[in-house]
Amino acid sequence: MMKSITHEFVEFVPADLVEGVVYVSIPYSTVVHKCLCGCGMKVVTPLRPDKWTLTYNGEAISLDPSIGNWSFPCRSHYIIRKGRVLEAGPMSQSQVRRGRAHDAALTAVYHGEVAPSRPVERAAPPPVARKIEAKKKRGLWATFIDIFRG
Ligand SMILES: [Zn+2]
Repeated sequence: MMKSITHEFVEFVPADLVEGVVYVSIPYSTVVHKCLCGCGMKVVTPLRPDKWTLTYNGEAISLDPSIGNWSFPCRSHYIIRKGRVLEAGPMSQSQVRRGRAHDAALTAVYHGEVAPSRPVERAAPPPVARKIEAKKKRGLWATFIDIFRG
């Protein structure tokens, strides 16, 4: 595990990442680095209120919350705080499951796959119900005509 990182503010993240360099793209609200365990996997941490928060103190960066690479074989878990890498310790299976479920839920909401719960609107009946009602009315009218015609 690396003990410290340097950072680079970029617009586009380069294709070849240097180990120990955390690339920060403010225009794309994305931070990318190679897994700090040394396994070489690319770690993408989007900057969003429901994902990661970047702090820059003029010299070094911090990323919150911790970075848990539970989908990588290494399963490394660390915190980047003021340019230093703090090992966050291995995660238990249940922590991994919770983390994954939490991630999936947030991502699903963000991509619009799951609408955040909101009260059901009852102002207008759905189109199908309106059609049935219209048919009923016609039916009634037809019955009147039948009566008049005798
Ligand atoms: Zn790794």
